[in-house]
Amino acid sequence: MYERSYVVSSDGNVSVRLDDGRVVATPTMTCKGRMTEDSCAVTDIKGKALNDRKASSELMMHLLIYEERPDVKAVCHAHPPNGTAFAVAGLAIDQPILSEVILTLGCVPLAEYGTPSTQELTEAMRPLVKHHNALLMANHGAVAYGTDIWQAFDRLETLEHTAKIAILSRLLGGSKNLPADAIEKLINVREAAGYLGENARCQACGYLHETRLTCPTGERTVSDTQARAATNGAGKIALTRDELVELLSQAVQSGKI
Ligand SMILES: [Zn+2]
Repeated sequence: MYERSYVVSSDGNVSVRLDDGRVVATPTMTCKGRMTEDSCAVTDIKGKALNDRKASSELMMHLLIYEERPDVKAVCHAHPPNGTAFAVAGLAIDQPILSEVILTLGCVPLAEYGTPSTQELTEAMRPLVKHHNALLMANHGAVAYGTDIWQAFDRLETLEHTAKIAILSRLLGGSKNLPADAIEKLINVREAAGYLGENARCQACGYLHETRLTCPTGERTVSDTQARAATNGAGKIALTRDELVELLSQAVQSGKI
C-alpha cells in the first residue's frame, strides 16, 4: 500500500483474521513502508491485546467487518488519492462503467462521515458491509476486504484504479454507463463463476431503476443524489422536489449555473 502511495506517513492499516479467531493487525503510528513482520499486534476478536504491540486505533473498523462478514479473513484500509477524492467529494464509486469491475468488485458505496477510531464511524459503515466488498468513508478514505490478504488488497487496488479512470473519463467529457442488460449479464456471469454472491447485487442501485435488478440493502448512501446528478446520459433519473432544489442551490453556489 505504501509503495503504491495508497498511504503516506503512518496512515492506513491491514489486518488478518486467523483460523483460531485471533487477529493480526498492523501497529499504530507506524509507517507501513517501514514496518516489519515482528511489529504486528495480535488481538482477540474483540480487540484485546494478546502481545505487547499496540494495534492501529482503527482496528474497530476491521473488527466490525469481521463481525458482519464471517467470510472475510483480511481487511485493508488506506487513503488512496483517487478513491479518497471521491470520498471527499461526497461521491460513491458506483457508476457501472467498467465490465471487469462489475465482475470482480461491484459498487463501492460511501458511508457517512464518522470520527475515525470511534463507534460513529463503525455505525455509519455497518449497514453497508454485508452487501459490498469495499467502502468509501466520507472525508476519510477507503477500506476493502476479502477471503485473504491478497483479495482484500486487490479489491483496494481495483477501487483506486476505477476511481482514477472515472476521474479521467470526466475530464474527457464524461463516462458512459453500461446498459442495464449488459449489467445483468455481467452479474449472472459473476454469480455463476462465484466471483461475487447475490449479496453484492447493488450495481444498479440509484442509477438504473428501470432494470429488474434491485439493491438488496434498500438503502441510499449519502451520495446518491449527487452521484445520480453527476451521471451523464444515463437515461432517466428521479429526484424529489427537495433533492432538485438542493442540487440547483449547490450548482449555483459552485458557480456552475
Ligand atoms: Zn484512515
